[in-house]
Amino acid sequence: MSLLEITALSAGYGGVQALFGVELTVGEGEFVALLGPNGAGKSTTLRVLSGLIKPSAGRVLLGGEDITTKPGWRRTGLGLGHVPEGRQVFPDHTVLENLQLGAFVHRRSRTRRQELLDEVLALFPRLDERREQLAGTLSGGEAQMLAVGRALMSAPRLLVLDEPSLGLAPLKVAELFGYIKRLHTERGLSVLLVEQQAATALNLADRAYVLERGRVAISGTSDAVRKDP
Ligand code: ADP
Ligand code: ADP
Repeated sequence: MSLLEITALSAGYGGVQALFGVELTVGEGEFVALLGPNGAGKSTTLRVLSGLIKPSAGRVLLGGEDITTKPGWRRTGLGLGHVPEGRQVFPDHTVLENLQLGAFVHRRSRTRRQELLDEVLALFPRLDERREQLAGTLSGGEAQMLAVGRALMSAPRLLVLDEPSLGLAPLKVAELFGYIKRLHTERGLSVLLVEQQAATALNLADRAYVLERGRVAISGTSDAVRKDP
């Protein structure tokens, strides 16, 4: 059984259907990329995962449990760490407070929260240096690291990222993906990455899915998908 199993997933907005029977899995310790042109349904897939929209059909199992019946905040307790699109941080709170809020919503014990905080700060030295700085004054790259760090504060089994590279300078993208790759290779974290830049994502991922107009058009190992015309 895979960590994440999406079966026959359909979803949309009001009368407009955006996903048509999508099938997707992420294995334990696997790095999977979700690719496709604008409007293909990548964000919609992640919105179903994070509980922002309800599917009209299909199942989403995380660790064998159907998460579509649970409210979004409960899914973090089940192991989903979500980095939403657009570097969402609380601008009027410090870096430290932003990270603490990440653990707080999951009711971790005080000791566990401190452990997680130490781990995340060790992982992102740039955040550690700016721990007392307001998140609103961070650079784009730093804010995105903070958003990733906050998701990690829930000790997720699956980290889901929605176009974290958007609007970042190429060097910052490389730095950010370097961290994410390390989380995958060194800690065995499972990752589902939505990305518009296919080449970048295929270099990182074990497997990839290409969505087109709400359907899986291509799927396979990154090498196979890269060679697909
Ligand atoms: P992608 O993330 O691959 O760019 P989306 O999942 O955002 O694609 O969009 C899939 C389809 O759903 C598109 O046709 C888009 O126009 C539509 N869509 C996305 N968000 C909304 C929304 N909030 N309201 C109505 N339609 C939407
Ligand atoms: P990046 O390339 O990561 O986006 P920038 O060149 O934008 O980095 O920022 C470099 C440094 O300037 C960072 O340490 C950031 O914290 C700081 N900085 C950026 N914007 C602001 C701001 N509006 N107020 C205070 N500090 C800022």
